[in-house]
Amino acid sequence: MERLTAHGVDVVRVSFTDLIGVERARDVLVERLPSVMEHGLSFCRAIYHTTPRGDTVEVAGGLDAGLPDICIRPDLSTLVTMPWEEGVASCLGDAFEPDGAEPAAEAPREVLRRAIDKIAELGLDPVVGPELEYYVCEPDPSAPSGWRRYSDAPGNVYTAGRKGDTGGHLLRTLRHLRDLGLGVTMGNHEFGGGQFEINLDHSAALDAADRAFRFKAAVQELARADGLLATFMAKPFNDEGGSGFHVHLSCLDAEGRNLFQGEGPDGLSETAHQAIAGVLEHAPALAALFNPTINSYKRFGPDSLAPWLIDWGLDNRSAMVRIPPERGAASRLEVRLGDASANPYLGIAGLLAAVYLGVRDKLSAPAPLEGYGYDATKAPVLPGDLPTALDALAADTALVEVLGEEFVSAFLTYKRDEVARFHRHVTDWEFGEYAYHL
Ligand code: GLU
Ligand code: MG
Ligand code: MG
Repeated sequence: MERLTAHGVDVVRVSFTDLIGVERARDVLVERLPSVMEHGLSFCRAIYHTTPRGDTVEVAGGLDAGLPDICIRPDLSTLVTMPWEEGVASCLGDAFEPDGAEPAAEAPREVLRRAIDKIAELGLDPVVGPELEYYVCEPDPSAPSGWRRYSDAPGNVYTAGRKGDTGGHLLRTLRHLRDLGLGVTMGNHEFGGGQFEINLDHSAALDAADRAFRFKAAVQELARADGLLATFMAKPFNDEGGSGFHVHLSCLDAEGRNLFQGEGPDGLSETAHQAIAGVLEHAPALAALFNPTINSYKRFGPDSLAPWLIDWGLDNRSAMVRIPPERGAASRLEVRLGDASANPYLGIAGLLAAVYLGVRDKLSAPAPLEGYGYDATKAPVLPGDLPTALDALAADTALVEVLGEEFVSAFLTYKRDEVARFHRHVTDWEFGEYAYHL
């Protein structure tokens, strides 16, 4: 408290992730912090199962149990001051059962910890580098959604300055994120009009997931402050590519040596090949976590720079798993499966679980993809929709065991409800396709 006060902080925002990755928080007055550290913060468990439209999905242990509490305990090791909100510091919290003793089984940060513990049993210490893309929109009262793409013009990928960033929003965001201590390295305009990417340093898996979670929340918050909308939805526009959540992964041994570097002709180790094989083997189930919305499956497809097939390749951007050209200490996988709408904790947890299974089961990877990657005669196709991916997750008993049955069951219930709601909804596409001639 003395340190906080000395830094001019009088409010601590305690945040945690819900099931789908939305930041939920309470702003705590500094003088109340000791009591919060002792007792935790009470939230209604239904927060985990609330849809983006505000409805609560009936998940076991929620409505049926009388909407009990969860208890959020601040993790003070994550405390940082918020550069754009004077007097406010931010810290992450962990979810516990109401008695405050046991971690809540479906809490995404806890699911990731379980996967990290599991992979550690094999002597692997995962290092993760998250890459997130997103679209920025500006208000447009004449557009049906109320928004149009920010600074939209064709061919703006990697353009410098105000051509693609008319209002200087990217620069402001980049500097604020740096000052928040997120380990951002650089930002650029992406392929889509109004689409941006900001890269993050690599670090230990939990820290990397924490930073990716905070990154998404901060980017959305900073866009709002500028009167803009930043969206991480997978494929917001029909005429532009989607937004990826690429995850770079290597694994170290106890001495900090990269276990993916090897002597083989491709410069990779057997462990790296087993890791790749695990990701390919469990990809259909992994899609449920890395591509968790109805919309996610519209990002996949030929010639999209997003994957379509379950394959891997050496420096090949059309493959689902790309091996970047660097070797030695920088040997790593770039898993391009995920889209930006994924809850980073769950995507990374699923990835580590798949790598764990690949190494544990000593799986062998097929030959890498050569050349053009969008040829379905070369490799199996990824799930074409969310229900298929959810079924694959339910059926992948090995992966479910690592992630925790209680969590997977809550996740599947929540997501199947989303699918059912979508199937009941009449879309504008249907009216356009059928109304006139049929
Ligand atoms: N936007 C592409 C995706 O959805 C990735 C483009 C890139 O390689 O930067 O994965
Ligand atoms: Mg990119
Ligand atoms: Mg990438």
